[in-house]
Amino acid sequence: MADIVIKSVAKRFGSHTALHDIDLTIKDQEFMVLLGASGCGKTTLLRIIAGLETLSSGEVSIGGRRVDHLPPRERGIAMVFQNYAVFPHMTVFENIAFGLRMKKVSEADIKDKVTRAATLMHIDPYLERYSAQLSGGQRQRVAVARALAVEPSVLLMDEPLSNLDALLRLEMRAELKGILAESKTTTIYVTHDQVEAMSLADRISVMNGGRIVQAAPATTVYANPADRFVGGFIGNPPMNFLPAKRSGNEAEVAGYRLAAPAGGGSLELGIRPEDMDIAEDGLHGKVRVVEPLGPHKLVSVDVDGHLLRAVLPNEADVKSGAAVALAPRPGTVRWFEAESGKAVA
Ligand code: ATP
Repeated sequence: MADIVIKSVAKRFGSHTALHDIDLTIKDQEFMVLLGASGCGKTTLLRIIAGLETLSSGEVSIGGRRVDHLPPRERGIAMVFQNYAVFPHMTVFENIAFGLRMKKVSEADIKDKVTRAATLMHIDPYLERYSAQLSGGQRQRVAVARALAVEPSVLLMDEPLSNLDALLRLEMRAELKGILAESKTTTIYVTHDQVEAMSLADRISVMNGGRIVQAAPATTVYANPADRFVGGFIGNPPMNFLPAKRSGNEAEVAGYRLAAPAGGGSLELGIRPEDMDIAEDGLHGKVRVVEPLGPHKLVSVDVDGHLLRAVLPNEADVKSGAAVALAPRPGTVRWFEAESGKAVA
């Protein structure tokens, strides 16, 4: 069992608190993605789990064993970090073989495992080259192949595909997902790319300001964001938010009445751009801009001075300057407390 338990982990750099009391359990063989904007603490958390950074307080356990006082090599993990340390004096083959040699694997098995990992990362043509003769993206793939080759029970990766061009990144993402789904590896993967996060993760931990604001499967994070931050961070374009006037168990948003959760306090309506259709009655506004995007068009609407974005089919009849009403599809509206930004259950 290689579950990872993070208990009340905090990290301070001088007077700056990079992590506030993080509690998170990554289940055995789970693929967990840490997602968040630059500076939210993802790398710091991963480095603490790896043993490359000390924690200010809290505990880290792997497979039921406290590891926070152990050096990285005694934690039983493989890792791929941003400043991927590919050994310059070794060939690609020897780089990938490194961990296997440490484990005293037989030469025949080394050849087999190195070739398999290199093929997966599409670097098999370069096995005899030295890393100085490789591009940044190729070197990054060597680092990933080296980590995969040892078939680790725990794999920590920090933006391992960041140096690849868009197409290769897409391919490598699918390769990684394929191999890790078949392996028995517990993976923590750091990225700021929400598409990568959604595609790879069993669960995503969305981080903001040194805290985990939601840890849930991608579909939950997308459909039921825990707060306005998550709704605004996940989705491209992000969720729309509009202020609502509450009366009883109804709310009125830009002349449109909807059933709303009962209770006090101001509400905001959250609606995804792809969850609305043109209708007779709906959120009324004036079309500002229409942007054709290929498979669909993105329409920006002024609703009582607020921006509402809708993704509509190419055949939708919308013209810049015209009035439009957009009706949310059944079951897609989410409500947030205006003050705290928290989702209303
Ligand atoms: P990015 O996506 O840009 O890598 P991140 O979410 O991984 O960002 P971290 O690198 O974990 O963020 O940094 C979290 C916060 O801690 C930042 O405000 C950063 O400036 C600060 N920080 C990180 N390392 C140190 C350090 N060694 N000394 C001081 N502050 C640090």
